[in-house]
Amino acid sequence: MWYVSTRGMAPRVDFEGALFSGYAPDGGLFMPEELPQLSRETLHQWSTLSYPGLVKELCILFIGPELIPRDDLNCLIDQAFSRFHHREVVHLSRLRDGLNVLELWHGVTYTFKDLALSCTAQFLQYFLQRRKQHVTVVVGTSGDTGSAAIESVQGTENVGIIVLLPKGLCTKIQELQMTTVLKENVRVFGVEGNSDELDKPIKAVFADVAFVKKYNLMSLNSINWARILVQTAHHFFAYFQCAPSLEMHPLPPVEVVVPTGAAGNLAAGCIAQRMGLPIHLVVAVNSNDILHRTIQWGDFSLSKAVKTTWASAMDIQVPYNMERIFWLLSGSDSQVTRALMEQFERTQSLSLPAELHRKLSGAVASVSISDETITQTMARCWVENQYLLCPHSAVAVSYHYQQTDRQQPSPPRCCLAPASAAKFPEAVLAAGLTPETPAEILALEHKETRCTPMRKGDDWTWMLRDAIQDLSQHWMGHFPNALA
Ligand SMILES: *Cc1c(COP(=O)(O)O)cnc(C)c1O
Repeated sequence: MWYVSTRGMAPRVDFEGALFSGYAPDGGLFMPEELPQLSRETLHQWSTLSYPGLVKELCILFIGPELIPRDDLNCLIDQAFSRFHHREVVHLSRLRDGLNVLELWHGVTYTFKDLALSCTAQFLQYFLQRRKQHVTVVVGTSGDTGSAAIESVQGTENVGIIVLLPKGLCTKIQELQMTTVLKENVRVFGVEGNSDELDKPIKAVFADVAFVKKYNLMSLNSINWARILVQTAHHFFAYFQCAPSLEMHPLPPVEVVVPTGAAGNLAAGCIAQRMGLPIHLVVAVNSNDILHRTIQWGDFSLSKAVKTTWASAMDIQVPYNMERIFWLLSGSDSQVTRALMEQFERTQSLSLPAELHRKLSGAVASVSISDETITQTMARCWVENQYLLCPHSAVAVSYHYQQTDRQQPSPPRCCLAPASAAKFPEAVLAAGLTPETPAEILALEHKETRCTPMRKGDDWTWMLRDAIQDLSQHWMGHFPNALA
């Protein structure tokens, strides 16, 4: 399997190349050169698989047994999910009036990011051991990515991780999930600034090409192909759990409602759809509505400022992964995609060509949900089911309630639930409900924490470089025969 850049100006790479690259050298995103088409027979066979079983099938297809033999791959994926709290890893809750909630949050840090990041970390470690190399992952985060990334690589020999968090701007639980991991290969900085300000030292360090190369720096944000790959499994699992029967001709559709920010789960859904899975996609956003405007009116333009909402992990201005979707829908046309994205980067505003807009609105429906509706939905779901939703999951479920209240006929529907309500007690209280906090989260309060402040006036770039050098030297000290 080969990967090409959506902008068509970079050499093709294999999965290993895409995994370690993040962005392609031409600024595009890596996509499989061709998507495998799944036959009815394959879908039938896959329909009885467990969630980890589906991840294994998808990964072998997109990685290739020549890079990771099947037995090794199966071990890596079992290892990735070994610390999840639910034996099924991903669980579907069937609630009143056809409401299906796919709980993607049974990982250690209680969001769906644990699913893909834990697999991605296993893949990294596998290749690095073989190459006798070390990488340092640098993550700027205001939410769930940092904790899931730390958790996935903590204690890993060949990967060091440095996280910059905006001090006081994450929720208390999010911050504790990052600062209580006291492993040698983990460094956390609490920055006196917002997420834009903490991006500056990261950008400065990544701009030093020689330094990046010397210390094998990488990022693990949602533009990484490995994360999208693992997330395609959500859609297959949702389909097989909710489809009424696989004996019908053609296979019956299932509607998957995807709450999204950077459109990672949406890109994964579009890929699954193009492989032949008969899903209808609905993207549900909060009042940061660029995606909704794009799908409704072809208006892909930046809003003036990010709005703060209860679904804070979706408070995102630029849905980076739309570039993948534009590329797919334009028939893998990298010239068109490059022109569109370069115009967007120049002017922060883009009106989609009519043909592309028509294809997009044909493939994906959309809805934008207000903060008030988010808390109302959380309250209603509790009253009807005694089931607590996190505010992000509530964005998806709001769409379900809108449709059922209007008695719209529809195929079976599955709402993706990206996080546990336990992680967002502030929103649960705002909905007039009582938070339920698992023992693991309560225990965080009593754990020792480690977090180095980056104060106003400090040289943040220098501090970050110093930490990168230190992590790398520490590793070299343990493995003196390794390649730098
Ligand atoms: C990261 C995150 C999202 C947004 O995911 P995208 O890949 O940006 O669409 C939604 N909800 C939660 C809880 C998250 O942590």
